[in-house]
Amino acid sequence: MRVGRIQHAGHVHWVVFDADGDLEILRRAPWEGIERSGRKIGCEEISFLSPVEPSKIVCIGLNYRAHAQEMKKALPSEPVMFLKAPSAVIAHEGVVKLPPESTQVEYEGELAIVFGKRTHRVSVEKALSGVFGYTCLNDVTARDIQHRENIYARAKGFDTFCPVGPWIETEIFDPGDLELTLRVNRVVRQHSSTADMIFSVAQLVAFVSNVMTLLPGDILSTGTPSGVGQLTAGDQVEVEIERIGVLRNTVALATCEI
Ligand code: MG
Repeated sequence: MRVGRIQHAGHVHWVVFDADGDLEILRRAPWEGIERSGRKIGCEEISFLSPVEPSKIVCIGLNYRAHAQEMKKALPSEPVMFLKAPSAVIAHEGVVKLPPESTQVEYEGELAIVFGKRTHRVSVEKALSGVFGYTCLNDVTARDIQHRENIYARAKGFDTFCPVGPWIETEIFDPGDLELTLRVNRVVRQHSSTADMIFSVAQLVAFVSNVMTLLPGDILSTGTPSGVGQLTAGDQVEVEIERIGVLRNTVALATCEI
């Protein structure tokens, strides 16, 4: 099942995206129990919202061997965590805005876990029990700032630096071998499989849940494969993950708002 949030006729709704292209409105947030309302809307009448409003976005650095090599860093002996600001989230079809503080903004296509249950100190064996589903995420990064600063809060935290979506796929029961492709202007720049992760989805969930309690709607993004590169104004960037779908965003210069 594909679950997400949309805006339609001035209202925000949780919806199920059905195979026939229609959307059906849900009565409440999906982690409170999926209850269809019977009200359908056509997909051409909507604008996408991010499929979650997370209290936190936990990210993992260097979780694919080839990416660690291209960043000239040693393989980590345990997952390296950092946080992205919830205010950085944008939806499918939203615009990534290049801030004037950076001259090297880069894409990072990633598989993101969405939690449906409060998850605290779970074992690896039980780690997936609190997972609601999976979505696509672009961990947009100001690489020049990241190289200058030891703390990633600024490099990873600019507004619009966290495209998420287009929806949450709830019926992936083994996330261990999903094809991941990132395209810029329809040219493939990243192509890998989640089978190449250093730490598995279950290992990451267990590790992070030992640090901070994960709440319904929270996101854990699992790191990016090799092939990272720069975005420039006018680009279209797509993260496609097998069995989930395509997260598509455009890129523009940020404008100063008074
Ligand atoms: Mg990343």
